[in-house]
Amino acid sequence: MSDRAERAPVAVTSACTGCGACLLTCPEHAIRPHGQPLDILAELCTGCMECVEICPADAIIEVG
Ligand code: SF4
Ligand code: SF4
Repeated sequence: MSDRAERAPVAVTSACTGCGACLLTCPEHAIRPHGQPLDILAELCTGCMECVEICPADAIIEVG
């Protein structure tokens, strides 16, 4: 019965090379390196899309 989103507004695809740029860029520290694909914590992600813009592999997509 939570209003909290269960899914983050962005997702990491298999195109991820593991460069780490998104981890350093996310202002909310919502991206966590728990293997690949990376975890994006829905409760922290604000949907700012900075990770989508910074990813050199275009591996982060907007979802939902
Ligand atoms: S910036 Fe893109 S390629 Fe680099 S770790 Fe993040 S999702 Fe993967
Ligand atoms: S959309 Fe913004 S808050 Fe969400 S994971 Fe990407 S950089 Fe972080």
